[in-house]
Amino acid sequence: MCTEHTDHEDNTGSRQPQVPSTAFLDATADLIASRVAAAQQAQGEQQVHLNAYPQQPAVWEAVDTEVEDLKSDLDFIVEDLHAHPELAFEEVRSQKVLAGLLEKHGHAVELGVYGVATAFESSVQTPGFDAGVHPTIAIMAEYDALPEIGHACGHNVIAASGVGAYLAAARVLGSSAAQGIEGRIILQGTPAEEGHTGKEYMIRGGSLEGIDAAVMIHGFGYDIASHAWVGRRSATVRFYGVAAHASSQPYMGKNALDAASLAYQGLGLFRQQMPPSDRLHAIITQGGHRPSIIPAEATMELYVRSLGVDTMMDISQRVNEIVDGAALMAGCGFEIQWDPHPMSLPVRNNPSMAARWTATQAQRGRVALPEGTVPDTLAASTDFGNVSQRVPGIHPMVKVSPDDVALHTEAFAAWANTPEAKKAAVDSAVGLAQVTLDLLADAPLLAQAKSEFEIAGGVVTVEDLIT
Ligand SMILES: [Zn+2]
Ligand SMILES: [Zn+2]
Repeated sequence: MCTEHTDHEDNTGSRQPQVPSTAFLDATADLIASRVAAAQQAQGEQQVHLNAYPQQPAVWEAVDTEVEDLKSDLDFIVEDLHAHPELAFEEVRSQKVLAGLLEKHGHAVELGVYGVATAFESSVQTPGFDAGVHPTIAIMAEYDALPEIGHACGHNVIAASGVGAYLAAARVLGSSAAQGIEGRIILQGTPAEEGHTGKEYMIRGGSLEGIDAAVMIHGFGYDIASHAWVGRRSATVRFYGVAAHASSQPYMGKNALDAASLAYQGLGLFRQQMPPSDRLHAIITQGGHRPSIIPAEATMELYVRSLGVDTMMDISQRVNEIVDGAALMAGCGFEIQWDPHPMSLPVRNNPSMAARWTATQAQRGRVALPEGTVPDTLAASTDFGNVSQRVPGIHPMVKVSPDDVALHTEAFAAWANTPEAKKAAVDSAVGLAQVTLDLLADAPLLAQAKSEFEIAGGVVTVEDLIT
C-alpha cells in the first residue's frame, strides 16, 4: 500500500494532500509586475494627453471639493457597513443606513424598487430636464457581504464610492460650475450580488429603462480601468437509475452514480477544448447511500464561466450533450436545471468611458491599468455584466489591498476597513462623479460610448439567450 502511514493493527492508512506549487502564481505575479511598470511609464509619457482632461475644469474641481466635504460620511459608510455585514437579499440595515445618509443630505429615496425589497433609488435632474433630449446616467452601489467572512469583497467600499459620487455630482449639477449641463443622475442601490444576480432582477423590473450609461467600481489589489469579468451560469443535474442489491442482483440495477461519474469525466476531458479564460466546475453532491445499494439517484452541481456570451452558451450546450451521453452510457435518465438564479453575463467594458475614468484617476495619483495588464484568467463574475450588456458601462477596479491579497478572503475583508479602503472610496467617488458629469456635459463622449456599445454587439438580454 503506497501510503505515508499504514497501520495494520487498526486497518487505517493516510496521506496528507500536497501543497500546491506557486510556480504559475509566481510567474504571473512577475509578468503583472513588469506590465504594471510599463503601464506606469506609459502613463507618465501620456501625461500630455491626460492633461487634455478635464474638458470642464470647473466641474472636476467642484467634484473634488464636494467629495472632500463628504469624506466623513464616506468613512462612516466604509466603517459602518463593514461592522454590520449582511447577506444577499437581507441587506435591510445597510439599505436603511445608506438611505438615511442620502436623506440627511436632502435627497428623497425610494426603497424596494424594481421588485427587490432591499434595493433603493434616488435621482436628481436639472430643472429643464427632458428625458427625450437629455441624458440619464446611473451610478450603482452594492452593499451585500459574504457568509462568515463579511465584507471580503469590499462592497462597503463600493457603497461609499457610489453614494459619495451621487451626492457630489448632485451638488455640482445644481451649482454654477455646471451651468449649461442638462441631465439626470440616478443612484441605484443594487443588493444581492454575491451568489445571486440582484441587478438582473432589477433590470427585469425596469431599472435600466431610460438609462444611457451606468458606472460603478469594485475594490481589488490593483487599480484597473477595464478588467475581465466572466459570465456565469449554474446548473443542477439529477441522474435517475434503478436501485438494486449490488451483490445479489446487480444486473437489475441502473447506476445513477455511474452516470454522474461518467459526466464528471466527460466534463473534465472537455475542459481541454475550452477557451483559455473559460471555466467549468462540477461537484457530485449526492451519489448514493450504501455501497451495497446501486444508487437510484445522483446529483451534480456545476458552473460554466466564460469571457463571451456566445462561448458561455456554446459551453452550456456541450454540457447538455455530455450529461446526456453519460446518462445514456449508464442506461440512466437525467434532468438538468439551468440557472436557479438568473445567469450573470460577462462585463463589456466601454473603452471611451474607461479612458475618461483613467484620466480621473491620474488626477488622484493613481495609474488605472489598461485592459490586459492583469491577465484575464484572473477573473470572477459579477451581475454588473448584465447591466453592461444592456447599456454602455464601466466597472473599474480600485486598489484597496496589496496586490497579492485575493477577493473573498479574510485578508481582503480586513483591508476593506483601512485608511487605504477609505482613500479608495474617496478617489473612486471623485472618479465616478466626474465621469458621470462628463457623460452629461460631453455629447460626443456619450455618442462615442454608445457607438462602441453597438459595435461590441448592442443589447444582449438574458431572456433572448434562453428562449
Ligand atoms: Zn464577491
Ligand atoms: Zn464583489
